Amino acid sequence: MEEDNQEFFWIKSEGTKKLATQNLVEGNQVYKEKLITKKGIEFRLWEPFRSKLAASIMNGLEVFPFQNKSKVLYLGVSTGTTISHISDIVGPSGIIFGVEHASRVARDFLDRVATYRKNIIPILQDARKPKEYFSIFGKVDVVYVDIAQPDQTEIAMANCKMFLKKNGYLFLVIKTRSIDVTKSPKRIIDEEIQKVKESFDILQTIDLHPYDKDHAMVIAKFHE
Ligand code: SAM
Repeated sequence: MEEDNQEFFWIKSEGTKKLATQNLVEGNQVYKEKLITKKGIEFRLWEPFRSKLAASIMNGLEVFPFQNKSKVLYLGVSTGTTISHISDIVGPSGIIFGVEHASRVARDFLDRVATYRKNIIPILQDARKPKEYFSIFGKVDVVYVDIAQPDQTEIAMANCKMFLKKNGYLFLVIKTRSIDVTKSPKRIIDEEIQKVKESFDILQTIDLHPYDKDHAMVIAKFHE
């Protein structure tokens, strides 16, 4: 096992080094990911073909503001694959507010993830209506947005203005095809970045290929 930092780990499995997080809930699997115990500590392999945050790390992510005790707002948790790894990382003293509006996936998220992880507060709401998240208290360190909507950047901005602390970070997944199928991906990414630039310094844009087709991750720092 090689320790890269305290947030995530590189673990040798089947002859290659793989990304992993330390399992917050021992024995608990979320998406049939492999569990590996080394020196008495249980790790969960973090699959980059299933999680765009893992894909971002594989493709050279330079800032990683998810830490022990971090406070995170996550829009579009779906069945909970990525948020489960963030839950491992922020640990028992961290907190993640997980927003999802589709009841079918939200049920899976509650049954498989939120029930076991006390640092996740599920919010079954539309991310377009941040004023209706009654359970959020204080400001967060990171806003993570993966909602695949044509107006995802505007939704991200509205949530950041309400909940992100100054100098906090935005992770915005841009699904290029969900915005406009007739435009080139590069043009779509550039247009979305222009909208973010009003309130943020853009730190990095990562193409998620080959893990994800037609997706980019934009990482930005909030200056209000
Ligand atoms: N982030 C997830 C992961 O890595 O495991 C995958 C997210 S999936 C691509 C997008 C999710 O966003 C879907 O579950 C969808 O229901 C949700 N979503 C889309 N629009 C939303 C909205 N306006 N409010 C809340 N959730 C939304």
